Amino acid sequence: MKGNISFSLSFNFNCMKQKFNRREFISMAAAAGTGLAVAGPNFALGQESKKPAILGGSKAYTSGFSAWPLFDDREEKALVSVLKSGNWGRLNGPVVAEFEKAYAGLNGAGHCLGVSSGTAALTTILGALGIGPGDEVVIPVYTFIATYNVVVLNYALPILVDTDIETFQIDVKKAEAAVTAQTKAIMPVHIGGTPADIDALIRLGEKAGIPIIEDACQAHLAEWKGKKVGNFGLAGAFSFQSSKNLNCAEGGAILTNDADFARACYTFHNQGQGGTGTSYGTGSGTRATNLRLTEFQGNLLLAQMTRLQQQVETRTENAKYLTELLADIPGIEPAKWYPGTTRSAYHLYMFRYLKEHFHGLSRGKFVEALNAEGIPCDPGYGQMNRDAYVTGLASNPHYLRIYGEKTMKEWLDRNQCPQNDTLTREQSLWFFQTMLLGTRENMEQIAEAIRKIQKYAKQIAKA
Ligand SMILES: *Cc1c(COP(=O)(O)O)cnc(C)c1O
Repeated sequence: MKGNISFSLSFNFNCMKQKFNRREFISMAAAAGTGLAVAGPNFALGQESKKPAILGGSKAYTSGFSAWPLFDDREEKALVSVLKSGNWGRLNGPVVAEFEKAYAGLNGAGHCLGVSSGTAALTTILGALGIGPGDEVVIPVYTFIATYNVVVLNYALPILVDTDIETFQIDVKKAEAAVTAQTKAIMPVHIGGTPADIDALIRLGEKAGIPIIEDACQAHLAEWKGKKVGNFGLAGAFSFQSSKNLNCAEGGAILTNDADFARACYTFHNQGQGGTGTSYGTGSGTRATNLRLTEFQGNLLLAQMTRLQQQVETRTENAKYLTELLADIPGIEPAKWYPGTTRSAYHLYMFRYLKEHFHGLSRGKFVEALNAEGIPCDPGYGQMNRDAYVTGLASNPHYLRIYGEKTMKEWLDRNQCPQNDTLTREQSLWFFQTMLLGTRENMEQIAEAIRKIQKYAKQIAKA
């Protein structure tokens, strides 16, 4: 996997779990032993703890962030009961259909189809729309590579749109400029779990007569004006891959309020065989595949869903508090929300690091210093439009045959994204959803770590 365009949670959380380093242990033991400590050593201890860990001070964060996934005997029962039933696939048992009903209900959507992954959800939507060679699909440049891959898998042309640097979301004005007579879908992503500018996107879709597909793979239970994402476009895609806020190892779902489109999706994901639930009907599509979810995954999701609402609330509260704390730190700019956003899923806590407020300390060094404090932090996505994995499409023989050399050359130019370049080369940083499942004190420790680094930025830059 190329670090630049695809991101995996590679950070070793185990190293976060080491409770105390030797120095801290000795300090604590000493403090405990002295009871009413004298001013001298105590003062020295205070100074030591205010120094960044990267310069030999003690870590701001010592207790370890939430494990992921969280589970207990609810999940064990869910898996064992499917096992013992002998009905392991959706064509054999009722559980995937039960999950679909529950997930549609939770999101206030008319229809839900469980599928084998978030990528499968997007693939099914594009398949049901009949998107293929010669078609263009508008997507944000700032996203997980899957958003791009599903377009290319259909030999359609992905048009990469620049990022609104303040929100990290697709720039809708630039999306509008990217629409041509060939555009068959606009596929915004609610990146980080925060809604893109949904009202503007829906207006654009209506004006252009093109369906909006919401890539909500990171945005479980996120809301726009009080309504759950995935309900606004023709359809929304969700991922239940291990790192996501709702997890069954690999899985996905489609939400839609269009009954005909729900049927078309079912047919596409089930080898062209129609019908709903577990029944077969006559095939209607001419292209289809098998992207079915299993009963094990369906029941695991039902068990995980008993925790979802509480987790969303915990992340919301912690993120709100963290944002308040960070507001006092110049040079740390949390991603802004569009006014319609009423809830973020906070799959990622995205923020900009402006090094001019840190004596020019590079983003890389800042991350290193934060990691030394015991705090995971990552630059995240890069310049997808410049990555060889993507630019190589311009010399793909199938693309050259379908679109011609001139179009593919122009395509490289159409994908220029200057705002995204600035954001991802110098500024963008992420905290992760598991960090927001901690305590209020954890949020204070994150802010404290950043303040220490800011204070000692000159020394860290030289170290
Ligand atoms: C995770 C993700 C996907 C793909 O989901 P999988 O379940 O991993 O296939 C697609 N788009 C975005 C934005 C994602 O974060």
